[in-house]
Amino acid sequence: MKNRSVLISGAGIGGPTLAYWLHRYGFDVTVVEWAPAPRTGGHAVDIRGTARDVAARTGIVPAVRAAHTGARGMAFVDQDNRRVATLGTDVFGDSGGPVAELAILRTDLARILHEATRDGVEYLFGDSIVTAEQDDTGVDVRFESGTSRRFDLLVGADGVRSTVRRLAFGPDERYLRDLGCYVSLYSTTTTLAHDGWQLMYTMPAGDGRPGRTAGIYPRTEPGTGLAGFFLRSAPLRYDRRDVDEQKRIVTRAFAGDGWEIPQLLSTIGDASDFYFDRVQQVQVDGWSRGRTVLLGDAGYCASPLSGIGTSLALVGAYVLAGELAAAEGDHTRAYPSYAHQMRPFVDRAQEFARRSGDNGLMPDTRAQLRMRNLTVRVLPYLPRALVGRGMERVAGTVELQDYAALAHR
Ligand SMILES: Cc1cc2nc3c(=O)[nH]c(=O)nc-3n(C[C@H](O)[C@H](O)[C@H](O)COP(=O)(O)OP(=O)(O)OC[C@H]3O[C@@H](n4cnc5c(N)ncnc54)[C@H](O)[C@@H]3O)c2cc1C
Repeated sequence: MKNRSVLISGAGIGGPTLAYWLHRYGFDVTVVEWAPAPRTGGHAVDIRGTARDVAARTGIVPAVRAAHTGARGMAFVDQDNRRVATLGTDVFGDSGGPVAELAILRTDLARILHEATRDGVEYLFGDSIVTAEQDDTGVDVRFESGTSRRFDLLVGADGVRSTVRRLAFGPDERYLRDLGCYVSLYSTTTTLAHDGWQLMYTMPAGDGRPGRTAGIYPRTEPGTGLAGFFLRSAPLRYDRRDVDEQKRIVTRAFAGDGWEIPQLLSTIGDASDFYFDRVQQVQVDGWSRGRTVLLGDAGYCASPLSGIGTSLALVGAYVLAGELAAAEGDHTRAYPSYAHQMRPFVDRAQEFARRSGDNGLMPDTRAQLRMRNLTVRVLPYLPRALVGRGMERVAGTVELQDYAALAHR
């Protein structure tokens, strides 16, 4: 086989899924992840459409079901916490709704995938690539830890701000498309998150303030939840490493608002898993440069608000590994086949994410907010043929090939 050794940057979702399959096809796989260990907590993600088949073939569905978030649906509430419109997970089939039937914390999924691969795959936690130079026969990589190694192939599965993409394709600005808002998430204490309903409180723009939503995501652990804040805004200038400054931005943006917001904000100072980022899409024309290729959010993030990113990463990993195995490691054949199979899925997902925008979370007017709530209320009464089909069609774009005969482990 050509090109047996593969370095994957990123142990999120796409990286370990690719590692699982490449290992089964007989490749030597190393995964480098800059977090010191698999993380805990964080947001929930969805496994939809074809990605359900990938999860099944990877043998992780029982573990995914066991770690289910317990999510039963999303409820839009008023400031007295009365539910004004609800969307149960059962309304849209297994894959079509805002919360899919297979919903799991991103970190739980990453942990399950790590556990499925740690025998046979080399993991380097707490490290990162700093330089990658490729020539005709391989890629020389230098790590932050000071070591240098040579690999046959390099995969960037390191998220929206991929280091591999920056090194091999150029600066982020060329590839990030702005979607006009910020999202913030952090673990909090709350008594409202125990029954599996995700609660969302939306305020329309007015009095010089933009449209915005605060939310509480359920957790199985009693007394805890995940606080979410969504804010329409022009790009803000702030130090990406200064978490306290980012906490102040969120606190200022929601200061004086009602519902549970004062309680949620009162815990922001203690949040150790605080997340704040601009909502962006990653648009890259060709996902490979020589021996280097991009996977998942690094190459084609649709939007963190779209609910399809995890499925893109899972399907992308399965297809990339299968094509590398089918081409016996010849990346000049495998990378174009991977792109050929994934491009329609990525284009549809990104178009869907742009079209659905912020999903009514940041309305400009009170009328828009009323219309959103009305729409949500009638959805359960519409014929199933009309509801959730957009997302289902997107999530089912790829017809998975069967590479099973190529696996020898
Ligand atoms: C706030 C938020 C909410 C979301 N909600 C949903 C949802 O409801 N449903 C859904 O399906 N998807 C959701 N997503 C998207 C989903 O999390 C991603 O699409 C999915 O995780 C992509 O997987 P990935 O493996 O490509 O990247 P990631 O999961 O982002 O993994 C990238 C990994 O690379 C590591 N890394 C980064 N840089 C380096 C480096 N230089 N060296 C080594 N390692 C590095 C990171 O630590 C991380 O572990 C959400 C995303 C966010 C941010």
